[in-house]
Amino acid sequence: MQKVVFLGAPGSGKGTQAKQLSERLGIPHISTGDMLRAAVRNETALGREAAPIMASGGLVPDELMVGIIGDRLREQDAAPGFILDGFPRTVVQAEKLDALLAGNGNGRPRVLYLSVPDEVIVSRISARRSCPSCGAVYHLENNPPRTEGVCDSCGAGLIARADDNADAVRKRLEAFHRQTMPVVEHYRAQGVLREIDGEATVDEVFEQIGRSLA
Ligand code: AMP
Repeated sequence: MQKVVFLGAPGSGKGTQAKQLSERLGIPHISTGDMLRAAVRNETALGREAAPIMASGGLVPDELMVGIIGDRLREQDAAPGFILDGFPRTVVQAEKLDALLAGNGNGRPRVLYLSVPDEVIVSRISARRSCPSCGAVYHLENNPPRTEGVCDSCGAGLIARADDNADAVRKRLEAFHRQTMPVVEHYRAQGVLREIDGEATVDEVFEQIGRSLA
């Protein structure tokens, strides 16, 4: 069973790389951000609770996130393995994931940390455009859609994410340093962490990932 966890700041390329890796390995890409955005779109109870927290750039409470991910990992398609993108984001979430995997008789995940300096993150996110329908992500210069403003995959109109504004990005970066960097250290201590230079091009990063998992 292959279990891969992507860690990195917002805009570090986790989603793009996780999606490609999911296609290569044939195991699901599980993004808690995508799951929460779907809940907000569908106006579920979870979506109503998460929406204002996400809009401000804060983190949704651990109990909620642990419940969501526990349910998702029990689904049939995750039996051969999975790629997590956006979870765990706190040490509490990481410990719960460790317990969940140990309880299932599964070993530790491989953890890939995409390291990108803050100033690069801020400029990347301002050029990011997302597809609200299928979740595809573009960069206006490095990875533009074939037709301006239109998703290559599904034809929907592209948008800037509501939480990609300057204030929310500052808060998300702060949350990353304060709450998620300790998760990087948690996995480093377990000896399962590989640090990847996330400043390289999408293809170069994907090659580094391939080498790390070989
Ligand atoms: P992302 O698409 O991964 O950048 O996530 C977007 C937003 O969803 C984050 O800024 C958080 O508000 C929320 N979120 C996603 N995953 C988690 C998580 N594991 N724990 C807490 N909040 C999360």
